[in-house]
Amino acid sequence: MPEIRQDPLTGAWISLSGDRQIRPLTVSAGNATPCPFCPGPGTEVGTEPFEVAVFDNRFPAFDAPGHSEIVVYAADHWADLATLPLSHAQAIWDAWCDRTQCLNRRADVAQVFVFENRGKKVGASIAHPHGQIYAYPFLPPRMVSETIRGSNSHCALCLGDGPDLGARTLLSTPDWQLIAPWAARMPFQLTLYPLKHHCDMIPIPESSAKEAMAIIQTVYQAYDAYFGHRTALVLALYQAPAHHFGREQYHLRFDFLPIERGRDKIKYLAGSELAMGAFVGDMLPETVAHRLRPLVEAAFARYLI
Ligand SMILES: [Zn+2]
Ligand SMILES: [Zn+2]
Repeated sequence: MPEIRQDPLTGAWISLSGDRQIRPLTVSAGNATPCPFCPGPGTEVGTEPFEVAVFDNRFPAFDAPGHSEIVVYAADHWADLATLPLSHAQAIWDAWCDRTQCLNRRADVAQVFVFENRGKKVGASIAHPHGQIYAYPFLPPRMVSETIRGSNSHCALCLGDGPDLGARTLLSTPDWQLIAPWAARMPFQLTLYPLKHHCDMIPIPESSAKEAMAIIQTVYQAYDAYFGHRTALVLALYQAPAHHFGREQYHLRFDFLPIERGRDKIKYLAGSELAMGAFVGDMLPETVAHRLRPLVEAAFARYLI
């Protein structure tokens, strides 16, 4: 069982567990270990047909207080969020939304975090495409910073996320804006946010959710085209804390955080990032937008037919 400890120096909470070291690894194609996320007798998803499956993580980072869940995107072991039919991708959105709503109601949950570790370079221990949901029993450090800052100033995303937004915009749709953020932490980081101020997924209408999933698929496809392979990235959904005072001031967004900084080059977190939490970048967001925009536009054009 995980143990929650508070860093006496910073006040930040850390989840520690010895059990997670024994969780199964099936990342390589020739691995003899059966996939626990493929349908079949005795696997995590069982033999019942499913479109999207959600279940408790057997090796949780958080478990009462808090909670950890797995979202298996499809029964097909070789499916990928990038290429699933859009109607199927919408079912993933619905699962994220349902779980957010349900977990937000729990008194022992402070923050619901929906994310995907795509590829073994960012820690995916099972190859079968899936995402995760952490329901933290505390507010993670980034959310502490964002909510404090958000409560003391106007909404940064409603204001357009800093100067030169036009040069950093890759795609604008009726409801969503895809940008390279002004102060990107990772070299090829992109941010997707709704133009209307929503603090979480719950009130977002179906047509707008469909548009968002099409853009998420577009970004995956654009990265894969740019880097020439299935890009290792973290997809992170930032939503308002579960019970925080003034949670409506939070503006929902998705961050795409690839760990690559060029073809076959990895952005390693090193001294400044690991030791001080201060990111030192190698790419200007304007340059990233310029490079990826044609690929994003080409990929998104397929959804407009
Ligand atoms: Zn599988
Ligand atoms: Zn806003």
